[in-house]
Amino acid sequence: MFTKILIANRGEIALRIQRACREMGIRTVAVHSDVDRDAKYVKLADESVCIGPAPATHSYLNIPAIIAAAEVTDAEAIHPGYGFLSENADFAEKVERSGFVFIGPRPENIRLMGDKVSAKAAMTKAGVPCVPGTEGGLGDDPTDIIKAARLIKYPVIIKASGGGGGRGMRVVHTEAALVNAVNLTRAEAQAAFGNPTVYMEKYLENPRHIEIQVLADEARNAVYLGERDCSMQRRHQKVLEEAPAPGITERQRVRIGERCVEACKRINYRGAGTFEFLYEDGEFYFIEMNTRVQVEHPVTEMVTGIDIVQQQIRIAAGEKLPFKQRDIEIRGHAIECRINAEDPFKFTPSPGKITNYHAPGGPGIRVDSHVYQGYTVPPNYDSMVGKVIAYGHTRDQAIARMRVALSEMIVEGIQTNLPLHQELLTDNQFVKGEQSIHYLEKKLADARKG
Ligand code: ADP
Repeated sequence: MFTKILIANRGEIALRIQRACREMGIRTVAVHSDVDRDAKYVKLADESVCIGPAPATHSYLNIPAIIAAAEVTDAEAIHPGYGFLSENADFAEKVERSGFVFIGPRPENIRLMGDKVSAKAAMTKAGVPCVPGTEGGLGDDPTDIIKAARLIKYPVIIKASGGGGGRGMRVVHTEAALVNAVNLTRAEAQAAFGNPTVYMEKYLENPRHIEIQVLADEARNAVYLGERDCSMQRRHQKVLEEAPAPGITERQRVRIGERCVEACKRINYRGAGTFEFLYEDGEFYFIEMNTRVQVEHPVTEMVTGIDIVQQQIRIAAGEKLPFKQRDIEIRGHAIECRINAEDPFKFTPSPGKITNYHAPGGPGIRVDSHVYQGYTVPPNYDSMVGKVIAYGHTRDQAIARMRVALSEMIVEGIQTNLPLHQELLTDNQFVKGEQSIHYLEKKLADARKG
């Protein structure tokens, strides 16, 4: 096992990874930008290195600075967390070439899955069902584009092959709007992701977002840890997640889970990963794979009892998975609310100093957050300041516990989306477990009208 790991991230996930390491007796190195100097996880780390000024491009995305930090501290491995460099194949390659272990998949897997067109092609080949759409990227010829859309049937969605974070997508309802939409998305994709390739998919009108968590070791053993429902979204970004997904039967779980495990073996996948699907009328359609730990991983940890971050570290150290598929049992239900520093209904970011903070507690409540009273949320990064996770023996109990937890939680000095979560937790449709990916947007639009 490693004796020292460098954590190339910030915020709650930096603390989460650090906790996993400390529990395993592994020393940690925190890297931070100058505004994150006083962060809790920086203070708690065995060592820390400032890697640059606040803008992420100069710090958390600064590959030479991060590798130099690993060199001067004699770290053996680097955990990238999520976001930032976690899905950057060049970074993974440079880490390994510099003699460190990258805690994540092989660079070629990151590259394959980071390009959605090649990811879909690989999954189709591996027998994973995909959203109907074009086989590769769209060409320039308008007649071909129009033909493709007629075949797929409207509405269609134009997506950037290199897209992420819910950006680089455009829904098209009519032929008149099509070519212009393709050109616009292409230009945006080039500007935002440095890759102008776009492709077309059937736009599913009422799907749920359901994803499968997998773990795979170096020796091609792979398991699935059940599914998560992440349908509660705003602007294609997840707000609240849960495991298991309401209404999914054991039979469906096994069927789709086995497909994902098979796909892992076929591409020789290593580490933790998530296969994301849209689910409509009893069918799963692959949309993309995330080759890293996800924000919502705790709900799976709560219902399986498996520490996903520790497993990532063990896999990277060359250990075999300590369990087989038959050992994995889904027990109870877990819900996660992402707490963001933002206006709860206008969604404008609300950075600043937290003047009063009280975290909830009690049976089944887990809070993954790096903030504390007196902490200043910097304006430079993602607005998520933490996650509240509630576990219950049943979904109803998890909901009841989450309601209590949210009512106990106090965050003052900045605005947070706590009021939005409180509203969601009493929402009839959510309580019934019937949310689709469009549900939250519709609810917010209705509230604005009403
Ligand atoms: P990103 O990498 O930016 O997260 P994804 O491909 O995972 O992009 O899609 C994010 C979200 O966008 C999905 O969870 C879903 O809400 C919506 N979406 C993507 N593809 C489709 C589609 N074909 N039909 C309907 N909604 C879609």
